[in-house]
Amino acid sequence: MTGFFDTPIEYLKGVGPQRAALLNKELNIFTFGDLIQHYPFRYEDRTKFVTVKMLDDEMLNAQLKGTVKSIGEIASGKKKRLSVVMVDETGELELVWFQGIQWTKDRLKIGANYVVFGKPARYGSKWSIAHPDIEPVNPQNEKGLALHPVYPLTEKLRARHFDSKSLSKLVSLLFTMATNKFRETLPSELLSTEKLLFKEQAIQQIHFPTDTKMLQEAQRRLKFEELFYIQLRLLKLKLVREDKFKGHVYQDVSVLTQFYNDHLPFPLTDAQKKVIREIYADLKSGKQMNRLLQGDVGSGKTIVAFICMLIVISGKSQAALMAPTEILAQQHFNNLKKFADLMSLPIALLTGSTKKSARRELHAQLQSGELKILIGTHALLEEEVQFHHLGLAIIDEQHRFGVAQRSKLWQKNTTSYPHVLVMTATPIPRTLAMTLYGDLNISTIDQLPAGRKPIKTIHKFDSHRLQVNQFLRDQISIGRQVYMVYPLIEESEKMDLKHLMDGYESVCRAFPDVAVSIVHGKMKPEAKDYEMARFKKGETKIMVATTVIEVGVDVPNASVMVIENAERFGLSQLHQLRGRVGRGAEQSYCILMSGFKLGADSKTRIETMVRTNNGFEIAETDLKLRGPGDLTGTQQSGALDLMIANLSTDGEILQQARDAAIRILQNDPDLTTPQNQAIRLQIDSARKTVVNWSKIS
Ligand code: ADP
Ligand code: MG
Repeated sequence: MTGFFDTPIEYLKGVGPQRAALLNKELNIFTFGDLIQHYPFRYEDRTKFVTVKMLDDEMLNAQLKGTVKSIGEIASGKKKRLSVVMVDETGELELVWFQGIQWTKDRLKIGANYVVFGKPARYGSKWSIAHPDIEPVNPQNEKGLALHPVYPLTEKLRARHFDSKSLSKLVSLLFTMATNKFRETLPSELLSTEKLLFKEQAIQQIHFPTDTKMLQEAQRRLKFEELFYIQLRLLKLKLVREDKFKGHVYQDVSVLTQFYNDHLPFPLTDAQKKVIREIYADLKSGKQMNRLLQGDVGSGKTIVAFICMLIVISGKSQAALMAPTEILAQQHFNNLKKFADLMSLPIALLTGSTKKSARRELHAQLQSGELKILIGTHALLEEEVQFHHLGLAIIDEQHRFGVAQRSKLWQKNTTSYPHVLVMTATPIPRTLAMTLYGDLNISTIDQLPAGRKPIKTIHKFDSHRLQVNQFLRDQISIGRQVYMVYPLIEESEKMDLKHLMDGYESVCRAFPDVAVSIVHGKMKPEAKDYEMARFKKGETKIMVATTVIEVGVDVPNASVMVIENAERFGLSQLHQLRGRVGRGAEQSYCILMSGFKLGADSKTRIETMVRTNNGFEIAETDLKLRGPGDLTGTQQSGALDLMIANLSTDGEILQQARDAAIRILQNDPDLTTPQNQAIRLQIDSARKTVVNWSKIS
């Protein structure tokens, strides 16, 4: 069944095939429904007019009424501009266009009256507005429009003279045709308990708000709806799984007990114990576990992962750990192998670069059940990788794997699904966790191992280099080691490499009697490993590196982290880098070096780092600064392609939406009652267009 809103956009009057193609390509607008859901991203206040005399340097925008006095083209060098002089009763104003000159010229008449809107700029005593919004005076705009919608558009559309106004006109036309065509997408009971506008009203107000209050109501309703359906889907997924999927029961912990008795390298923290208890409760529950484990850098997630593996190994099953990159997989393998060797447990690494012959052997051992622990990248998902019995799949993801990929690992067993533990290497803010992992239970390690001294973080300008060097010399003389990290950003890789090499040279010059290592991404793996090993053994005292060490090494004796050009790093990355020190018993330091001139965001990032060591607080700030789409890796997770809601500011609405979804599913898990018909219809129509989530469960 296709409805009115499924009509292709080309059939809207004034669109036609050519414009339709443009709208498809530039804005992803294919249907009437897409157009109506292309929301403004801001609104201009067009309720007031000013006169030329009232113009002021501080004004961001001004709206004026006046008469066109002259129209002329002015050439300066090769460039041309259109200069239009407009007058009102108080003075003159120049309107300037550098593009679309002919097109604009054809639309203006000397002696006619216009309403103009734009940012005023003063040149000497003259006022001008570049590329103003201009419209002949008409009965509507004469009195001042209300809040004027500004739509997201592209350069290409603007070049074709398709602007916010053109879009607004199309939407307005569509509204005249759409009366009674709107389907309410939330149950009426929900609308009244949550005090939400009707769908039709909300959409109308989002495009053509009558006032600020109605606009806010409209935004709240549409954000609520968006977040509600995401939560409903996640919670439903969870419910279905808990209901349907039996989990293998792991009650026996004999292998784990042996580890506890003979090999536990340190007493576990209370937080680690709490998390292990939560996981063990899941493993013996008879239901499939789906749990997120989050904890700050250095909180000790690795040993928790290993302990959980030992529980399923006690039950004669196997365990797998999947990491998003080869380096991370290698690191996990190195760490876990240390523990596994203590227990003589067979463990292997599988990545894209594993040789064929090694693979064949590995496949065989995996299938026979001889191999107990497999670590790797998404190579684990390949068809040939077959387990004897996979009891636990651990996914270390830094938000990089989507729901679909996660679920692939489950399908490795035919009899029962393996238990799934998702680990995040960085703490994530609550709203993000609820959206990305809303279908999981969450365990948090909120405590660092005892005896760790909090890292002292200091910000220094480059001009204090000598003072910093002296500090490093003192630290080295009492036996410590130092990291010096340089930024590496892909677009300018060559420049950065030069920067790094220059840095290396000046370090060698400043510390002539100290052995210095250098490691970067362009080195051969063997050379890299060799240098890392030298540093780890203490043969070199300073490690100059790019961010490869973010995930690479664990050297407890390294107690100073110097980050060069700290203003160029993201907040989470700075925090990750800082986590490389503070692993031993000594006082550790993180020194953020920067130039004197700092942008507002860089300043906030550096100040946040200096103020706190708390990864959760840092993640919240990062989310506010960058928005969810920009957080490491999250671009790939469709869950964050939100149309209107914003996870950094809409936490409250998100919580309300989730609570509402929980309430509704509790009373009507299958959504079969008449009250929830609106929900059923909405899910069905969404299913046609987006991923078929039901297939995943
Ligand atoms: P992360 O959570 O960042 O993965 P790791 O698991 O790598 O942290 O642990 C960081 C360091 O702390 C490792 O050297 C690990 O052996 C050590 N560690 C973990 N748990 C404890 C503990 N309870 N007591 C002392 N050291 C611990
Ligand atoms: Mg780790």
